[in-house]
Amino acid sequence: MASKKLSPETLCVKAGWDPKKGEPRQVPIYQTTTFKYETSEQMADLFDLKAPGYFYTRLQNPTNDLVAAKIAALEGGCSAMLTSSGQAASFFAVLNLCEAGDHFVSASTIYGGTFNLFAITLKKMGIECTFVNADASEEEISAAFRPNTKLLFGETLTNPGVNVLDIEKFARIAHSHGVPLIVDNTFPTPINCRPFEWGADIVTHATTKYMDGHSTSVGGAIVDSGNFDWAAHAGKFPGMTEPDESYHGLAYARAFGKNAFITKATVQLMRDLGSIPSPFNSYLLNVGLESLQARVERHCANALVMAEYLSQCPEVAWIKFPGLPGDKYHDLAQKQFTNGRSSGVMCFGIKGGRERSIKFMDSLKLINIVTHVADAASCVLHPASHTHRQLTDEQLIAAGVQPDLIRFSVGLENTDDLIADMEQAFASIK
Ligand SMILES: *Cc1c(COP(=O)(O)O)cnc(C)c1O
Repeated sequence: MASKKLSPETLCVKAGWDPKKGEPRQVPIYQTTTFKYETSEQMADLFDLKAPGYFYTRLQNPTNDLVAAKIAALEGGCSAMLTSSGQAASFFAVLNLCEAGDHFVSASTIYGGTFNLFAITLKKMGIECTFVNADASEEEISAAFRPNTKLLFGETLTNPGVNVLDIEKFARIAHSHGVPLIVDNTFPTPINCRPFEWGADIVTHATTKYMDGHSTSVGGAIVDSGNFDWAAHAGKFPGMTEPDESYHGLAYARAFGKNAFITKATVQLMRDLGSIPSPFNSYLLNVGLESLQARVERHCANALVMAEYLSQCPEVAWIKFPGLPGDKYHDLAQKQFTNGRSSGVMCFGIKGGRERSIKFMDSLKLINIVTHVADAASCVLHPASHTHRQLTDEQLIAAGVQPDLIRFSVGLENTDDLIADMEQAFASIK
């Protein structure tokens, strides 16, 4: 399908799966571990990557690939893969370029789970991350780079602080050091932000959030723009440019060109680490993707109503939402995000600090307390006592999480009902 020319709402419905005569309208679920061949040699060619094809679902499955192709089309990328979680996507994106002894640089304002992965687990594997303030100058961020630095990482819209990343600035810094920029685009989704257009090279997603949208399936995705020239920086990326002995000396950059990154992550990391989503989960993800544009627009419109309401509330100490004209990131959001929309997520604090913020949350009836975000059902979370509770106060502040911060993810309910719920919660903590 000539998907690049179609608009996003059309891609949401049509990209990836293009049924022919008599074929199912919906993406088929290939619920199978393995695939049959007629000769032993056909199978051997698959193992040697001489011929494309499916042989074992731990590496690849057609349902997963159809859905990944839709996400690639939405991002304007050239290839994509699904993973079993957003965490696996971040892990694979880094591990595809780094090995023990390597280093990378990341914005400090990132999702708590990603922070743990980078600061603790990857460190145990000998891969070191330096965290930088994403709002610092190019010179300050550049100072964190070393000869063994392999990539720069950031979140296009941070969870939970909803800071907007200056993608062009980050891309300039990464490229001036000969490394790719990887961004986690979970919150804006490609409906609100297309990072490749601002210079990012690789995009990751927790599809668990808006893409799924209905709290059904944990999942992740990695999308490659195909723009980073591995061969031009060959010394830095031996895994991309030098022979892989586990495939008879094949070199990914030469053999697969623009698809090298995703191919390597599939045939090496998926093969060895096996973080594949179930085809059934990918099917559910695809159902979510069909309505992504319509849902994201409504999430964002509802969020603007709720942010305006909260910003007028006498009980609210502060609020962060890039859609509000006074927000620190308002101008950057207007520039970088489609129609200036960020997401349905905001944060705020209640006057009286941490204790009253928690009391307020406990008083809500319609709005759920869940460890989730970007769902059809509105929800709140107190990161300092939930997702980020293992961080020290210092790390909390570095991650952009004030101790009284309530993360509010606005769902698809009627905003009059959401406001009424907040009103009764405010009344009960008076
Ligand atoms: C949730 C989330 C992740 C991790 O995704 P899981 O599917 O929960 O593993 C990564 N990045 C961001 C921005 C997230 O919101």
